[in-house]
Amino acid sequence: MRFYPVSATARDRFVLDRRGPKPLHSPWRHQGVIVEDERTADRQIARAATVFLTGRECPWRCAMCDLWQHTIAEDTPRGAIPAQVGAAREELRGESSPITQIKLYNAGSFFDPHAVPEHDYDEVAVKLAGLARVVVESHPAFVGSRVDRFLGALQRQGAADTTQLEVAMGLETVHPEALDRLNKRMTVDQFASAAEQLRSRGAALRVFLLISPPFVPPAEQDHWLLRSIDVAFACGASAVSVIPTRSGNGALDALAAAGAFRAPRLEDIERSIESALTPRPDRGRIFVDLWDLQRFAQCRHCFEARRARLHAINLEQRVRSRPSCTRCGFGVSS
Ligand code: SF4
Ligand SMILES: [Zn+2]
Repeated sequence: MRFYPVSATARDRFVLDRRGPKPLHSPWRHQGVIVEDERTADRQIARAATVFLTGRECPWRCAMCDLWQHTIAEDTPRGAIPAQVGAAREELRGESSPITQIKLYNAGSFFDPHAVPEHDYDEVAVKLAGLARVVVESHPAFVGSRVDRFLGALQRQGAADTTQLEVAMGLETVHPEALDRLNKRMTVDQFASAAEQLRSRGAALRVFLLISPPFVPPAEQDHWLLRSIDVAFACGASAVSVIPTRSGNGALDALAAAGAFRAPRLEDIERSIESALTPRPDRGRIFVDLWDLQRFAQCRHCFEARRARLHAINLEQRVRSRPSCTRCGFGVSS
């Protein structure tokens, strides 16, 4: 693959040069709140909210990432993150069933001080009162003393014993060359070391893995996804979320044109979660990310039934039988 640069800085440039325009966002407004059911580690169903926070762009330039579209170029001003979390909690007050979990996803790293100022930790902790679980996302390189300081802020609110902190980290794939080329500037060993740091601090771990990442040969995708899941659980993950790789960020489209990336189809996503959940001892939960799922579908006649099945698989953590479609032949045995 001669056209894809070898050095990290040249890869940054490759990714940046192919980006489209970046929408403008106010750091004083979050970009949405969704509520969904999620299976918990103790086999219950929790009402979980995800707040899409607005903050400074992540400093990395991963080849598969499109999250920069939801960020701002400047440092997040002090007070903005607590204001966004507070507004989201206000909006969630109208929910008929109480929200017990909240995910604060900032399209970067919660522990990046340019994205979430440390001065705001106490104020954020105030806004998180009463929740059983708080999930934040972070690149492994930011896992360190700021985790302690945020835990300290939760403690000062008296929440240390009642609110479990969970940190979601993207391992993406353990295919060594693909992980290097993704330009995340992280190795599996560095990921494992950050996971160990979380474990020693009593924080739970959620791991993001990619379905059909670039640079992994199509015939090896399933093998490497299963290996990646094994590594995630060996690192102490209580949940693994498998995320279909989305084209459209410029870099992935260039890689697709060069034959280094093939976007997953709905059947690839279905096969991935089916093989991931095919009985093995109870290692932890595996979820398939359903956001924007329609873009991966080819047949509109069976899409809703297939989406509903994947949602049920997430809640039940067992493979269900496939619905059948006479239009496209899905689920129809030959
Ligand atoms: S570290 Fe995460 S948010 Fe940052 S560029 Fe990579 S995938 Fe995107
Ligand atoms: Zn169909």
